[in-house]
Amino acid sequence: MLGGIEAGGTKCVVAVADDDLSIIAQATIPTTAPVETFASILSFFEQAQNDHGSGLTAIGVASFGPVGVDPASSSYGEILETPKLAWRGVSYQDRLSHFGVPVVVDTDVNGAALAEQIFAATEVSDTLAYVTVGTGIGVGVVQAGKLLSGFSHFEMGHILPRRAEGDTFEGLCPSHDDCLEGLASGPAIKARWGQSLSDLSADHPAHDIEADYLAQLVHSITLMHAPHKIVLGGGVMKAEGLIERIRAKAERYLAGYMKHAALDTGLQNYITKPKLGDKSGIIGALALARASDAGE
Ligand code: ZN
Repeated sequence: MLGGIEAGGTKCVVAVADDDLSIIAQATIPTTAPVETFASILSFFEQAQNDHGSGLTAIGVASFGPVGVDPASSSYGEILETPKLAWRGVSYQDRLSHFGVPVVVDTDVNGAALAEQIFAATEVSDTLAYVTVGTGIGVGVVQAGKLLSGFSHFEMGHILPRRAEGDTFEGLCPSHDDCLEGLASGPAIKARWGQSLSDLSADHPAHDIEADYLAQLVHSITLMHAPHKIVLGGGVMKAEGLIERIRAKAERYLAGYMKHAALDTGLQNYITKPKLGDKSGIIGALALARASDAGE
């Protein structure tokens, strides 16, 4: 039985699943003080082991960041410079050592990318990029079932876009001011227009400005990774009509420069919403556990 934890800033989703990633039991636990949150997580897994008469074989964690994701580093599985001070330095490995099974830790967006690659990609060998646009902007890339990374997980949400026409907002990233996240995350939209994108009327210029920035991200991801599919998830993407605007603008930015069947038909099959909806995160955590189980 696989264990999974999707650890978010306000809540953690925990689940146990079969080897085919079908969920057997699931619960939601508020993210409060680490001691309290881990006590609830441990009791969920113990209960699940008792109820289903089988032990955990591995635990996968898809965590809010920044988090150490390099298994060769001493900070692997440790929460790094998060604004949630009580969680700084918290180690998933230590807190979950009770079960004596491998604990695999990656970012929430990488977890979601892995889950979408398993369930939404046409071919196992396909490269898929998953983008979340919410409180922050993050991108995970999976190539033939493996998550790509360097000395750290990628931080493509912080690329520097070209200014959208008519946008004079200074940006709110504490590190870069007007990087992509500083201009196009959920909090940037609220700071600029006082409302979320879904609450602004369809003819408000916010929709075109937001779509412009996200189309620039799609353009960059396409040039850098040539994926077969880009999945756009997160709260901001729930705004009506946004994905259509992004497709139209991205097609203009791409300008036919790169050619592949994946890019045909107006990017309809290239830029999509998550096939797993809001379940990408927890299924991603379980997929991380499964990958370790297989000795990968
Ligand atoms: Zn930034």
